[in-house]
Amino acid sequence: MGAGKSRDRARQLRRDETDAERKLWARLRNRRFAGVKFRRQHPIGPFIADFCCVECRLVVELDGGQHATRTESDQRRTEFLGGQGYRVLRFWDNEVMNEFDAVLERIVEALRDPHPGPLPAQGEGELALRGGRMASVEYRGMNLIVPENDSEWKEYFEAARAHRLVMRACAPCGLMRYPPTRACPWCTALEWRWQEVSGRGTIYSYEIVVQAIQPGFRDWTPYPVVLVELDEQRGRPTADEGLRMIANLVTPDFTPEREANVAIGKRVRVAFQDLSSELALPQFTLVDEPHESRLWQFA
Ligand SMILES: [Zn+2]
Repeated sequence: MGAGKSRDRARQLRRDETDAERKLWARLRNRRFAGVKFRRQHPIGPFIADFCCVECRLVVELDGGQHATRTESDQRRTEFLGGQGYRVLRFWDNEVMNEFDAVLERIVEALRDPHPGPLPAQGEGELALRGGRMASVEYRGMNLIVPENDSEWKEYFEAARAHRLVMRACAPCGLMRYPPTRACPWCTALEWRWQEVSGRGTIYSYEIVVQAIQPGFRDWTPYPVVLVELDEQRGRPTADEGLRMIANLVTPDFTPEREANVAIGKRVRVAFQDLSSELALPQFTLVDEPHESRLWQFA
């Protein structure tokens, strides 16, 4: 089948879409989902993928009721698409209609982890993968893993486990950065060292999550996510570019802070949430300190 014919067939298929396809497309189109561009009925070689993200090499296919009769051709499709470097996720129509959050979650995971085949599900502890050891813990239904060979996060989380917050500080210019990227975002130098910070700061911005993307956060909604400017580097290198990190704003017992208590300008400090003996998550809690500027709340 030539490319022109493929595209004609793609147009035909667009007119025959099912409710499940329509529902999923409404979520994926126009970069609405994770900021990623999906195409609908996208021709790849002799096949037409239901949904395709070319940049992420991910194909999402939906199946109706007659799956058993299509197994062999599905297998050929998957093999061909795999040979083109695509990972293929398949869902039943009724999964999309009845378990939509779980479907979206699997798509998010696939976008995040380009490896074909998910990492094995783990409870608390360590697991071996590709020769390395790594901290792993289940948190609200998600499997959090810090691989031993993750040079950017491994030591950050080792410090967090000891309830210390550390930032990468550039050796030549001295400015700290978050996340712990390889090069300095201000001067591009590659030399750096870890520097401990107080974990005290000011809410620079926030949002209230009303609809959870992660199913595990469903019973947390509505909950605040805050962007905190840390005291150590306020207003540097410029007033618009400080040292800021994002986290949940929680109460001292690690439940979501109430929306009424959240405001830009309020003072916070880091609070380490121990998820296991291996992993602690830096979160923020409000502290009763005078604030320097006027508070602002979304009304
Ligand atoms: Zn620098």
